[in-house]
Amino acid sequence: MTSFKAMLLEKVDKDVTATIKEITTADLPDREVLVSVSHSSLNYKDGLAVTNSAPVVRKFPMVPGIDLVGTVEESASDKYKAGDAVVLTGWEVGEAHWGGYAQKARLKADWLVPLPDGLTPQQAMQIGTAGFTAMMSVMALEEQGVTPDKGEVVVTGAAGGVGSVSIALLAKLGYTVVASTGRGDSLGDYLTALGANRIIGRFESSKRPLERELWAGGVDTVGSETLAAVLRQTARSGSVAACGLAGGGNLPATVYPFILRGVNLLGIDSVMCPIEHRTRAWQRLAELMSDEAFDLITEGTITLEEVLEMGQQILKGQVKGRVVVDLETT
Ligand code: NDP
Repeated sequence: MTSFKAMLLEKVDKDVTATIKEITTADLPDREVLVSVSHSSLNYKDGLAVTNSAPVVRKFPMVPGIDLVGTVEESASDKYKAGDAVVLTGWEVGEAHWGGYAQKARLKADWLVPLPDGLTPQQAMQIGTAGFTAMMSVMALEEQGVTPDKGEVVVTGAAGGVGSVSIALLAKLGYTVVASTGRGDSLGDYLTALGANRIIGRFESSKRPLERELWAGGVDTVGSETLAAVLRQTARSGSVAACGLAGGGNLPATVYPFILRGVNLLGIDSVMCPIEHRTRAWQRLAELMSDEAFDLITEGTITLEEVLEMGQQILKGQVKGRVVVDLETT
């Protein structure tokens, strides 16, 4: 049996170690579809998992990596056959089930989505979980009637993965996009090239329950004081998609935006999102992402060996856009 490379997180007492090991298919969990993984990516949650900075991983040993793309090698399901190109995000893969930081993975057929026409495997992981979440956030705003004519849409954590893809998607759809970032001095040109019409700094805390109505909508990847501030400034009947906690998991807000302005707070969960919605989101990503946007959002491609160091950087808010993990050249 030929061996292949995998990152394994192992727990001894309270310490978690991340090492690259040679394993075989006999080590993989017993699931329906064996996938030869070509690419995965580095998301904020992967950073938390590989550095053991939060209890993301619930079983050890674990192959982390919350998303992957690859080709089916063997399938016991009639949904997929050998040679099919498939993409996976969510379903607690890389948290409770072995994930994408390995050259092969065994997965449930129901977790997979066919790689949409028009996307290469590399592009699917340039998007990855972060970009998929951006698409879900934009679709949630659309479903609440936030159309481009309603006014400006703010994106927080703008230079990160979810933020960058959100800006590209909203701009492509004709929205007037305001990027909120702590890195405007160094990354202002990047955010403008992605499609931001205006760049502002990070939001600050305030004791005021409401502030001037500025936003028709928002995509918030930061949480905490940032989400509370966006809610205080959202215009009547506007909507805010809350998808992240890069600034903290609390929400120091009041109910006034909801009861005096009819503001809608939309929760975004990419992990357990139903398959129909997933498939639709991937199709829309294939339609909306331009070659230029792919070039801009991609900070780089790394090997398995480089994941740990880059995982530390993403938690410090030092990564711009998206990082692809190449399993073929690893
Ligand atoms: P990134 O690290 O790429 O981006 C996060 C960005 O947030 C940073 O680039 C930075 O943007 C900003 N930021 C970081 N720390 C702070 C802080 N203390 N205060 C204010 N802003 C800060 O992460 P991702 O884009 O991959 O993920 C963003 C969030 O979305 C994460 O919390 C992640 O867990 C969550 N997420 C949720 C999903 C879901 O299903 N709901 C799925 C995917 C991600 P800048 O430098 O521009 O200020």
